[in-house]
Amino acid sequence: MKLDQFPRHPLTFGPSPVHHLKRLSDHLAGRGGGAQVWAKREDVSSGLAFGGNKIRKLEYIVPDVLASGADTLVSIGGYQSNHTRQVAAVAAHLGLGCRLVQEKWVPWDDPTNTQVGNILLSRMMGADSRLDPHGFDIGIRDSWKDAIGEVEEAGGTPYAIPAGASEHPLGGLGFANWAFEVAEQEKALGITFDTIVVCTVTGSTHAGMIAGFAALEDLTGVRRRVIGIDASATLEKTRDQVGRIARSTAELIELGRDLRDDEITVLDGWAGELYGIPVDSTMEAMALGAQLEAMITDPVYEGKSLAGLIDLVSDGEIPRESHVLYAHLGGQPAINAYHSLWPAQG
Ligand code: PLP
Repeated sequence: MKLDQFPRHPLTFGPSPVHHLKRLSDHLAGRGGGAQVWAKREDVSSGLAFGGNKIRKLEYIVPDVLASGADTLVSIGGYQSNHTRQVAAVAAHLGLGCRLVQEKWVPWDDPTNTQVGNILLSRMMGADSRLDPHGFDIGIRDSWKDAIGEVEEAGGTPYAIPAGASEHPLGGLGFANWAFEVAEQEKALGITFDTIVVCTVTGSTHAGMIAGFAALEDLTGVRRRVIGIDASATLEKTRDQVGRIARSTAELIELGRDLRDDEITVLDGWAGELYGIPVDSTMEAMALGAQLEAMITDPVYEGKSLAGLIDLVSDGEIPRESHVLYAHLGGQPAINAYHSLWPAQG
């Protein structure tokens, strides 16, 4: 099927806003850059519990949920998972139950980590959110299978959504559609974004974009770079997962050709040693985004991809004449659990 033939249940206000980051662009020009940096904002595109990238993926999964007759969404993530918060939001919106497995994916021992931010919002929305001591893994987990079994034993009908909605056959469609949305916005702005920078962890955001922009390239001849910045710190797993999901999404939307290797780019260098733990470049990027643009990013995902963009623009790897689009995928609620990174002064 072609992309526009897949059923889509709207959960967003419409196309996510695109805007120029002029002060950040000027600042990076002072460091040797010159590219004009723009942002496309998944963090402000839905009224469902602060939105984010999973809302867009779930737009294509909800029709399957509704057709399945399920009464409970089951999903998994870290304690401060944005994904599970967005699943809880969609469950509340649809009037479904929600069972969440929240694992200790990040060795971040602040006592608020299990109390504020995303997990607080999930609890407020009525999700049955339970803590589990297992560590980080983007694959399919036993704890998640157990949760599905428990819902069934209790007489419920579960619908399972894997971590990040990535290992779901329809998980890449939301961001394949994002590519077509960008193309429409470019027409209105009179700009072509030759480079896209996106954070990648479970992979289907980046993978969907790769498939979508490949389909656009075949239609329009416009070739772009879609640069994924790894924030998983398990680079090879993420690179494999992005390639696999990009190819399956491309097949699903009938691309009609194999993806080229140069269409699948995941860069490392900004994740640090561990998923969820910021490094100096993350802190600097979060400060620049906040202080130059009042654009808030988080220490787990978007601060790391913004750090990648800052370096790639500053050192000319993204050339001076480029228009680069930073995909802001949300994630701000987690900053509450990271309050100690910004200690009170005086
Ligand atoms: N940015 C934010 C704010 C996220 O919540 C996630 C989720 O994992 C990502 C980036 C990475 O997206 P993906 O898991 O689709 O690679």
